Amino acid sequence: GIPATPPRPLATRRKTRQIMVGNVPVGGDAPVSVQSMTTTRTSDINATLQQIAELTASGCQIVRVAVPTNDDADALPIIAKKSQIPVIADIHFQPKYVFQAIDAGCAAVRVNPGNIKKFDDKVAEIAKAAGEAGTPIRIGVNAGSLDKRLLAKYGKATPEALVESALWECSLFEEHGFRDIKISVKHNDPVVMVNAYRQLSQACDYPLHLGVTEAGPAFQGTIKSAVAFGALLSEGIGDTIRVSLSAPPAEEVKVGAQILESLGLRERGLEIVSCPSCGRAQVDVYTLAEEVTAGLEGLEVPLRVAVMGCVVNGPGEAREADLGVASGNGKGQIFVKGEVIKTVPESKIVETLIEEAMRIAEEMGEA
Ligand code: SF4
Repeated sequence: GIPATPPRPLATRRKTRQIMVGNVPVGGDAPVSVQSMTTTRTSDINATLQQIAELTASGCQIVRVAVPTNDDADALPIIAKKSQIPVIADIHFQPKYVFQAIDAGCAAVRVNPGNIKKFDDKVAEIAKAAGEAGTPIRIGVNAGSLDKRLLAKYGKATPEALVESALWECSLFEEHGFRDIKISVKHNDPVVMVNAYRQLSQACDYPLHLGVTEAGPAFQGTIKSAVAFGALLSEGIGDTIRVSLSAPPAEEVKVGAQILESLGLRERGLEIVSCPSCGRAQVDVYTLAEEVTAGLEGLEVPLRVAVMGCVVNGPGEAREADLGVASGNGKGQIFVKGEVIKTVPESKIVETLIEEAMRIAEEMGEA
């Protein structure tokens, strides 16, 4: 069989203390995990569990649910019990929901220090309840809801303001001996966000949850997140990631997984290496690449498939891949591990590639 491409990160991961979000370790030497958030009303238990199942199938490792109302808090015990992946309760305004989430068996609770009014005098109780239950807390600072005091001090949500808010909130928990914490400092501007996380990583050893907040629709949000996470992760900063897109959450998970694979932080799955096409192309590369991608969707093996439009760079790239095609003169040369195994007419390229991919995948399974 063909050996998998092992992860090869750009930088040594920064050493953070490890916490457990349910059965998923975050920080320390744990692989960077991908999380997302449901878009259903949490009180609609069936719809929420259905979406969690979809997210789980798409590779999501941790899921967060919003808890804005009593009904949502009441839904937590069933959701936490039936979800296949750890559930984090996202709580903004109501300390009482924090206690409900802990009692419900949620894997963690996210609190926003800027939004929880009268939160400070509740910290001792929260630290005690969370400590006894072994429930970690995410201190989730958000540029859009920064503590008024810090907004006044810094004028706007600067990296310094975001970091000060997070560390101040941590210190309140630390006073009560509670350190089962991870932190996020999100901003919609990747530059501010990157600087905030850099400062934060210098100032503490808590695991960090990366996110660009309100990143936008899929195209813009994907780029913003990839750029910001790429900058940080390539410096070894970041322990778990959430891509925020104005798109179905399963898309966020796919983007997150792809970012980690691109950075060598996760074993590559299926990878289509297709050329951009140019005036030399002798075949419609876009359609060919799309058809091959669609035909291989769901194949969970680290396979590199090259789809090349002509014989100039084609054979070279195709040879570097596990499997590939270089097209020319209405035909496709099919390569497996550098060897031309056959030449097929253009109309048979897609089906031949898919057939060969399946055969190799089977071999890998047996390896
Ligand atoms: Fe152009 Fe051929 Fe390169 Fe594709 S492989 S970009 S068609 S030269």
